[in-house]
Amino acid sequence: MPELSSQTQKQIKRRRTFAIISHPDAGKTTLTEKLLLFGGAIQLAGAVKGRKAGRHATSDWMEVEKQRGISVTSSVMQFEYDDHVINLLDTPGHEDFSEDTYRVLTAVDCAVMVIDAAKGVEAQTIKLLEVCRLRKTPIITFINKLDREVQDPIDLLGEIENVLKIECAPITWPIGMGKTFRGVFSLLDNKLVRFTPGGEKLSDDVEVIEGLDNPRLDQLFPLEIGNVRESIELIQGASEPFSLERFLAGDQTPVFFGSGVNNFGVQDVLDALIRWAPTPQPRDAGKRMVEPDEAKFSGFVFKIQANMDPKHRDRIAFFRVCSGEYKPGMKVYHVREQKDMKIPNALTFMANDRVLMTDAVAGDIIGIYNHGQLHIGDTLTQGEILGFTGIPYFAPELFRSARARDPFKAKQLHKGLKELGEEGAIQVFEDELGNLLLGAVGALQFEIVAQRLATEYNVDAIYENTPISTARWLTYPDEQTKKDFEREQALRLAKDAEGNPVYLATSVYNLQTTQKHWPQVTFHVTREHG
Ligand code: GDP
Repeated sequence: MPELSSQTQKQIKRRRTFAIISHPDAGKTTLTEKLLLFGGAIQLAGAVKGRKAGRHATSDWMEVEKQRGISVTSSVMQFEYDDHVINLLDTPGHEDFSEDTYRVLTAVDCAVMVIDAAKGVEAQTIKLLEVCRLRKTPIITFINKLDREVQDPIDLLGEIENVLKIECAPITWPIGMGKTFRGVFSLLDNKLVRFTPGGEKLSDDVEVIEGLDNPRLDQLFPLEIGNVRESIELIQGASEPFSLERFLAGDQTPVFFGSGVNNFGVQDVLDALIRWAPTPQPRDAGKRMVEPDEAKFSGFVFKIQANMDPKHRDRIAFFRVCSGEYKPGMKVYHVREQKDMKIPNALTFMANDRVLMTDAVAGDIIGIYNHGQLHIGDTLTQGEILGFTGIPYFAPELFRSARARDPFKAKQLHKGLKELGEEGAIQVFEDELGNLLLGAVGALQFEIVAQRLATEYNVDAIYENTPISTARWLTYPDEQTKKDFEREQALRLAKDAEGNPVYLATSVYNLQTTQKHWPQVTFHVTREHG
């Protein structure tokens, strides 16, 4: 394979592409904002939450957002930190959009897991970590909210190890908590970083005390220091040492303690990212692995975001570059549609106005304006027939049928649902008679789709309950089995947005009975795109 120039290869090695995963309320937004603050990408805390405030419209991207009225600002943010380029991908917080989150996780090389120190490991964290582990994504752990009365840190590590089945290597250790939170001791560098509450200071304002036997510690915490020394020695003896190899294999997670809202411990996470997190990794493209430094451009769409402005129907396809270099106006090959297309003006997502970049390399995310020709999971190359794997669809658990209030708008509804299905906003199944059935993983998806049908397609949709309670994708060992099964089960069969056969079951019992009768047919709970 021809390779990129050594200069471009250096650019790739500077990249770190990651997402933050957490249960809602653990502090993901706060941490995102603080990371951007450290990266110099935003000047004021509060910018991420208060998107509408307008004071942070400093980048080109945000100009685009303002002009076009779209709100995908936080979907991807790129900023520089310590001579590295960090691509931070946002994951929707609400569990109803967990499918979106899973897809975003296919586009990263590393994840930061935020845990609320008072609540410990929560349901959504468990699910998301499972997905990361399937792909062996390396995980950095940030245990947040130490400024509150929280659980014993030893118990927290035990819980992470037991519930999430990942070994913990504490890198920092908290001294006290809540009102008596004094700071974190770096087990690796043997120094204490003192905690002072407050929101927006950067590292220069923080007091660092070298060595556990430093007399400054006796002076600062005369009553507690004996205990502190004892517990640090204990944890140093009892915990696993950090292993870069085990971390990269996804078997061990380095653990940091801090308080996002107080800007404390955040820089440790950034430093770990550039020190330890992997550079853009090779990707499985079906028939072969694609290396990031191959000269030819390739990558895949992992997310499609609608333009929120009803006047502009176009949407943005978020595309992970896996190899080669994106250049404005370049021609690429759309593998699924088997034809060339041009990417005239992809968006790069700089949350920083000091650097202007017109090209993108492996690890970067570009946004491609899209009128429906790109679907989730689509691969673009420079001619080679590849298909990047691993982007999941999950069997929905909630179903509704949809019809237009105005029967003359049936066609419009059909079109809208098909497009929204292709985009991945909801799953759309069509039975033999052409009836459309909607399947969702979370109930909110139905609401969003109804809203979008109204604003973007001008259709008032009415949902109705259906007897369907679960779905499975089907594969057959041979044509004859397929024919026989289709004849017997015609009423239970449908096709998804990409035309794949799906079995619609009225109950788990119904599903099991059919499975028992048809052991040759495989019923899949997930389907990969492409
Ligand atoms: P998300 O839902 O995971 O994005 O969580 P947010 O970042 O929105 O945080 C949820 C709540 O926890 C907010 O009220 C934050 O102000 C609060 N929070 C975040 N970090 C900390 C922290 O370190 N200490 C305390 N006490 N509260 C925090």
